[in-house]
Amino acid sequence: RPGGGGGYAFFTKELAERDLQERIMTLDLSRALAGNDFEFAFQPIFRRADRAVVAIEALLRWTNRRTGEMVPPARFIAAAERSGIISRIDHWVFARVAAYVSGLVTRGIAPPLTMINMSPLTLEEAGFIAGIDQILRKFPDIGGHLCIEITEGVMVDDRVRLRETFRKLGDRGIRTAIDDFGTGQTSVALLRDIPVGFIKIDRSYVAGLETDPQAMAIVATIVRLSRDLGIRVIGEGVETQEQLSALETAGCDLIQGYLWSRPIAAAEVEALLERADATDPPTATHPVSDR
Ligand code: C2E
Ligand code: MG
Ligand code: MG
Ligand code: MG
Repeated sequence: RPGGGGGYAFFTKELAERDLQERIMTLDLSRALAGNDFEFAFQPIFRRADRAVVAIEALLRWTNRRTGEMVPPARFIAAAERSGIISRIDHWVFARVAAYVSGLVTRGIAPPLTMINMSPLTLEEAGFIAGIDQILRKFPDIGGHLCIEITEGVMVDDRVRLRETFRKLGDRGIRTAIDDFGTGQTSVALLRDIPVGFIKIDRSYVAGLETDPQAMAIVATIVRLSRDLGIRVIGEGVETQEQLSALETAGCDLIQGYLWSRPIAAAEVEALLERADATDPPTATHPVSDR
């Protein structure tokens, strides 16, 4: 900064402080992996027409044992991506969720799909598919029950590579989804290039539906385009009845958000799945079709 020696010193001090904090968090995260200190919350995804649970999304929860603090994923995932520990976390998550879904299959209450969030950085790693195969060999009954979500906002440039990886996942019966759709730069071109089963319309668009007429036009266009491409659309972050109605008008038939369910504990989601199974077997077991 011109003439701002003090400001410069302050700036580097801030950076050093952040760097230190991230190093500490990375150490805490690697200890958490070793100690299995993570848990999951599960958020259902509903079919709007009859409120059947068509999928659940696994959301990571971490209580830092050293500080006793519950750290939101928005904070530790970004730090994990910067430090590189993210791929270890993502593989751990995949293995744990695979084991969990395998148990649900055995009990006859598995939802049609379970969505797992992953960083695009993990998908780009050389050993990624080999790691997935290793876990699939342990749980051969979960094929077709899993979907990997990656966030469009941080998607990187190696399209060819990503397309290959998505195709290989598809070969293994694993579906793919683009999360937070609409937050990146290249949404539409991406859908044309890459084999994707689902997109999740980012909640900023869903929130805009009540107040912004343009948001309605955008969402309706995304839904129509996706349908033409054989892609299923999920509206995420649905908090109000008005947003739900607007999504219906736009033709979006899969819903996720606080209005119908917050992320809930495993026991609660199992109760929900058991109930759905008891009252309406066809909807609980009907596969979510994609292309
Ligand atoms: P995401 O995948 O887009 O997940 C949706 C986030 O929005 C979740 O936050 C969820 O609790 C929250 N949410 C759901 N419905 C509503 C709603 O109606 N209103 C509002 N305001 N929020 C809602 P969460 O659990 O804190 O996760 C934040 C992000 O962290 C996720 O965004 C995902 O990108 C990432 N993440 C979570 N678990 C994992 C994981 O296992 N691996 C990786 N790589 N990333 C993860
Ligand atoms: Mg997600
Ligand atoms: Mg996300
Ligand atoms: Mg999202």
